[in-house]
This record gives sequence, C-alpha cells and structure tokens, in this order.
Amino acid sequence: MKKIILSIFVLSQCFNVQGQSIDKIITKKEVTRIEKILSADDMQGRRTFTPGIDKASNFIESEFKQIGLQTFNGATNYRQEFSMTASKAVSSKITIDGREINNNQVVTFSYLPQVSLTEKSDISVVKINKGDNIGQKFNEYYKSPKNLLVLVDPSFEKVLPNIQHIDRITANPGNNTVMFVFGTTEATTFSVELTNTISKKTLNNVVGILTGKTKPNEYVIFSGHYDHLGVGSPEEGAPHTATDSIYNGANDDAAGTTAVIMLAKYFKKQNNNERTIIFTTFVGEELGGYGAKYFSKQLVPEQVIAMFNIEMIGTESKWGKNSAYITGFEKSNMGQILQTNLTGTNFTFYPDPYPDQQLFYRSDNATLARLGVPAHTISTSKMDNEPYYHTADDEFETLDIDNMTQIIKSIALSSSSIISGKDTPTRVDSTQLK
Ligand SMILES: [Zn+2]
Repeated sequence: MKKIILSIFVLSQCFNVQGQSIDKIITKKEVTRIEKILSADDMQGRRTFTPGIDKASNFIESEFKQIGLQTFNGATNYRQEFSMTASKAVSSKITIDGREINNNQVVTFSYLPQVSLTEKSDISVVKINKGDNIGQKFNEYYKSPKNLLVLVDPSFEKVLPNIQHIDRITANPGNNTVMFVFGTTEATTFSVELTNTISKKTLNNVVGILTGKTKPNEYVIFSGHYDHLGVGSPEEGAPHTATDSIYNGANDDAAGTTAVIMLAKYFKKQNNNERTIIFTTFVGEELGGYGAKYFSKQLVPEQVIAMFNIEMIGTESKWGKNSAYITGFEKSNMGQILQTNLTGTNFTFYPDPYPDQQLFYRSDNATLARLGVPAHTISTSKMDNEPYYHTADDEFETLDIDNMTQIIKSIALSSSSIISGKDTPTRVDSTQLK
C-alpha cells in the first residue's frame, strides 16, 4: 500500500512539474495584481525615506515569503539594510554685497552641522550663465569636493523647484559646502552662516534567492528598482490625464519590480536552477543608484555570471509589441544567448536604439558592469518619445499589461540556459567602459 501511495505521489509530482507551463505561472492576472498594488496611490510614489517606500518594501517581502525564496547571505529576512547621511537645514543666513538673500532663492548641499564662510574663506565663486546647459553645470558643481558659491542666472528661475526637491542625502559626506543662489549675478563680498542637523537614515533593498542545485556559488541576478519620485506639484508633471500629484511610477519601475517577483514565482516552480538566482529590488535608484551600489559590494563580482536589470517594460518599444532592447548589447554575448533561446518565438531582443542617451550607464546594472559582470538593462522605454516618463501620468492605466506579460515570459525563457549552467555569457571589458 505504502509503495503504491508513493508511486502515485511521485507520479503526481511529475505531473505537477510537467503541468507548470509558463503560461500558467506568468499570467496577466498576476502581473496585473502586483503592478496595481505597487503603483497604487497609497504607495505615495514610493519615494525613498517616506512611509510609501516602506509599504512597498513590506509588500515585496510578503511576496518573496509567499513564493518561498531564501534569504541572501544567511540574513534573517529579505531586507538588505544600509544607511546614508542626511542633512536638514535648521537655519541659514546668506548676505551678498550687503544684501540678505531670501532663503527661497538658495539651495545648499552641506553635511556639516555648522558652516561659516566669507569671501576670505577657501571658497570659489562660479556662475551658471544665461544660455548654459543648466543640467550639466549643476551636476558638475553639485559633485564638487570644494566649497562653492554658485550664482545662477535669473533665467533659470523655473528649475529652482526641481533643485529644491533633491534630497540632502549622501553615501559619502564631504567636508565641503555647495550653495546655489538663484537670481544673483555678482558676489564681491559675502557671508554664509548655516546650521544643519546631520543624521543617519536607514534604507533597504529587498533581496531573496533560490540556491543553485549544483553551482550554488555562481549567481544570476534579476533586478528592478522599487523606489520612484514620490509626490510632486501637479504642474511639475505635464498635465495629461493625472488628476493628482502622485508620481505613481507604474512603468518606472513598478514594472521591473513586478517582473522580478513574477520571475521568482516562475523559477521557484521550475525548481531546477543549477546556479543560484538572486532576486533583488533596489531602493534609491532615483537618488543616484545607492541601493545597487550597496548590493554590489556584498558580492564577489567574479561569482556573478549575469545580471538582468529590468527597467520600464510597461509600454511598447519603438518596434511595437513582442520586443524589447538590451543596453550595452555589444559589450557581452548575453543578448545573443537570449535571442538564440527565443528561436521559434515571435519575440525579439534588439540592441539599445538610443546610444546617445548612455542608458547602459544610467541604471542599476552599471555598478556591476564596471566590475566586468555581463550586467545589462532590459527595457522598452522610448527615450525619445515616452510622454509619461517622470510625470504624474505614469499610472497603471498607461501600461500595456498583455505586452508586459509577454516580455516577462520571454526573459524567463531566454535566460533558461544561463540559469541551467549551459551558457555563460562573456565578461564585459570594464577597461572599455566610460
Ligand atoms: Zn527607473
């Protein structure tokens, strides 16, 4: 009797495996459920350091738990925590050529509790003039390790709210102060008195794994970022359809996060991964890729066989349905492997059609790619014509869930030979990277 029961059991197990076709696991219904929850208004745009991001983290953790993922590196849970330094202005008084400057016209980046500077201090006065490329100049000065007083021409008044919106948060606090003063064009004499509250703030990636059966020390990573921009003023986002000011980030990157959860479901059910699969959703991407940077430091790059970073797959690519592009396609043979595995399907992975935009370097794959890992971003975002990108209109209703489901399935199928250990993509030559 026991034997018969056993064989029935074995048979039914076999049936289960056979019956777990991809169409039954990666379903439109499930993609819809997860995507809707992540992009819902009650997530408040999932801005890092807000209750909304915690809510999103809790949701992803509960999904990972339900799927049955293991934790990474023996951690007690899926939260991969780290901290950053935050600065909050308590008081500031800036006088230029005898005139006190309205605080609304000043944006200061300083991680020192007390700052006292005059024209006699070790500080440079620089200018952003009318007609300059404000984005480029801002980045250059914002990252400066020196004390800077940046005088911004009045013609740039409209970008002031965007700069005020930037978090005063950093992984590497310097000893310097950078101040942007709008609407003032000359500064012969000046004095600056600042008081800041400096604190450590904790944030977390969400990471789960499926340990490889025969190659547990070889890692394949699926990632997306679960943070977005939070709540802005309605006029900041082009007013298309949104009636609120919540930046839902349904495409950027609730879509990638949804894909990571769906892939975890799929590979858990397959239960045949020879290599270890790491499923990770990053925090702080929109602030500067901080989550990915921390995550990457917890790994030995040589052990990472491939990274699939999934970023904005909720709209049709420029080639239409059943297609996506891979950034840095020519930098390894991973794209070719994926496409070979899709032979006979109607899905195509193309090289990134927007090389000028440097997308390879602009998402969370870049940190590991610089260490030689074949780490690429898969996306459909039409970077020359994606009207809802970084607006309050990036909402669930603007996504093509059918197409997105097909893309997730294609990632699952095309990565199978890498998961099984049959294929190993060539390394990225990091000396050739920018
Ligand atoms: Zn993004």
